[in-house]
Amino acid sequence: MSYARFGSGGSDVYVFLNARGFLDCCSCILQEREWVYNEDSFLGYWEDVEPIIQNQFKTTQEMLDHLRIHQEAGDLICQDTIDELIEDQEENDQWIVEYNESRKDSSQT
Ligand SMILES: [Zn+2]
Repeated sequence: MSYARFGSGGSDVYVFLNARGFLDCCSCILQEREWVYNEDSFLGYWEDVEPIIQNQFKTTQEMLDHLRIHQEAGDLICQDTIDELIEDQEENDQWIVEYNESRKDSSQT
């Protein structure tokens, strides 16, 4: 489920529980990117430039800390986003641990 979408309620972040086992600040705007043009393919892509900003978190607390950095940078984070993350904190943190544990098991066998 998503906790925030770009533009929804003025949100500057897109935060959701990624099915791959982490909380995701998707396309985090704190991350500087530069357009890299590939002459061979006539295509380009956005490449993250240093410093690399972590935007995937294994705990709700880390995501809340990350959102605080957004707020300090002047980005709009809806109060609903914070409230809903805290409301789901126990459930999400437990699911993330269990999900990553189960993947660890399956990769060893
Ligand atoms: Zn972010």
